Amino acid sequence: CGIFGVIGLSDASNFVALGLHALQHRGQEAGGIVTYEPETGFHSERRFGYVRDNFTSAAIMKLLPGDLGIGHVRYSTAGSKGAAQIRDVQPFFGEFAIGGCAIAHNGNLTNAARLRKDLIERGAIFQSSSDSECIIHLMARSMQKTQAERLKDALRLVEGAFSVIAMTRTKLMGVRDALGVRPLVLGRLGEGWVLASETCALDIIGAEFIREIEPGEMVVIENGVVESTRPFAPANARSCIFEQVYFSRPDSIVGGRSVYETRRQIGVELAREAPIDADLVCPVPDSGTPAAIGYAAESGIPFGLGITRNQYMGRTFIEPSEQIRNMGVRLKLNVNRALIRGKRVILVDDSVVRGTTSRKIKDMILDAGAAEVHFRIASPPTAWPCFYGVDTPERSKLLAATMSEEEMREWIGVNSLKFITLDGLYRAAGEAKGRDAANPRFCDACFSGQYPIAPADKLDEGFVM
Ligand code: 5GP
Ligand code: SF4
Ligand code: MG
Repeated sequence: CGIFGVIGLSDASNFVALGLHALQHRGQEAGGIVTYEPETGFHSERRFGYVRDNFTSAAIMKLLPGDLGIGHVRYSTAGSKGAAQIRDVQPFFGEFAIGGCAIAHNGNLTNAARLRKDLIERGAIFQSSSDSECIIHLMARSMQKTQAERLKDALRLVEGAFSVIAMTRTKLMGVRDALGVRPLVLGRLGEGWVLASETCALDIIGAEFIREIEPGEMVVIENGVVESTRPFAPANARSCIFEQVYFSRPDSIVGGRSVYETRRQIGVELAREAPIDADLVCPVPDSGTPAAIGYAAESGIPFGLGITRNQYMGRTFIEPSEQIRNMGVRLKLNVNRALIRGKRVILVDDSVVRGTTSRKIKDMILDAGAAEVHFRIASPPTAWPCFYGVDTPERSKLLAATMSEEEMREWIGVNSLKFITLDGLYRAAGEAKGRDAANPRFCDACFSGQYPIAPADKLDEGFVM
């Protein structure tokens, strides 16, 4: 998901809408904005679909007055899937004895089922099926006198990955979990302050990138002052390495590094680790493009756009139902036959999950008359599900969980298939020595199976790590 908030800027909702629009790649199912204005109180509008279709008309923006606001774009990893429900769309709002508070959460709480059961037994009335709603109920039960202290209390009880933006009548707050799995950045625009999932959302409104919120840090912004505290026990940071590979936008700065540069460098590493004689390096757009540029540069094989993406389709993977996902590849991608015919083609993509995308693209490329098809993948085999906010399917549906690399190559039906190694990926992400097995700098559980946060609810369901 994508989250965004501003304080101290008149017509905050316009800024929030723009910020969410820049974060649309993080969630396309739905979006919501909450604002506060002293005379009329809190305002909340939540809709299915794209930001540009919902939060651009003067009519809706008039419903969201005030100079303080937060917003969320949703991609469902927990809660209802398929038959989406508006009650699951964030931000969530709670009215407590000490006033109202709205929250927007990116990530996934790994003990939400346990917490929910316990809260319901103690009388909480849940409105949604979302894991994030637990935070509101935990805040309601806290005896602390300020919203910031209540938010701390709540977040000390939840486990998992969270970047949270919250607002009260006077404050904008931002928190990252102790490991900093999901991103969150701080920006400044004039007299106002901005919090966002990624720097590309600061750029769109012309805000200056000040710094990342650090893993385990909480900021409370009020009257133009940013106050920072550390509510959690210190831990070694483990930000999500898949943000670098796929999830973040290439023009964002994540962990002090250009995402584009990391992706290009992945291609360079891949060309060194898995060279092959061929005529053309071709990205699977858009997510494979920077790595393909790096692969072509390092190998000296010409780069070409052999596949064109229809710009008006969303990201296939993010559509929740399998049926829509299966159709998606065709609707979205088409082959440039004149370029492909007779060539030995290296296709570069970011990841293989179920393998359905790769298989269909191979068919399209062979139909167009390619002589050979070689896949190079900018991440290691995805063999484990993510429980921290990226919607990978259950283990049995992951190609790499059940097949060896050679079996995957045969199943996809290509001349060769190679994935970047975990060490190569770490090198591309700026770790010169590769992955430090004793103390890895990133979360890489979907590749390594080493989960930095025990997935309590999944273990209850019988998941075996
Ligand atoms: P597959 O067809 O192998 O199941 O999916 C792989 C494709 O899904 C890749 O082209 C990748 O760009 C795309 N994708 C979109 N969202 C995600 C995600 O959240 N995780 C992964 N691993 N791939 C994703
Ligand atoms: Fe990111 Fe993978 Fe860790 Fe999930 S399991 S947070 S996708 S690195
Ligand atoms: Mg892709």
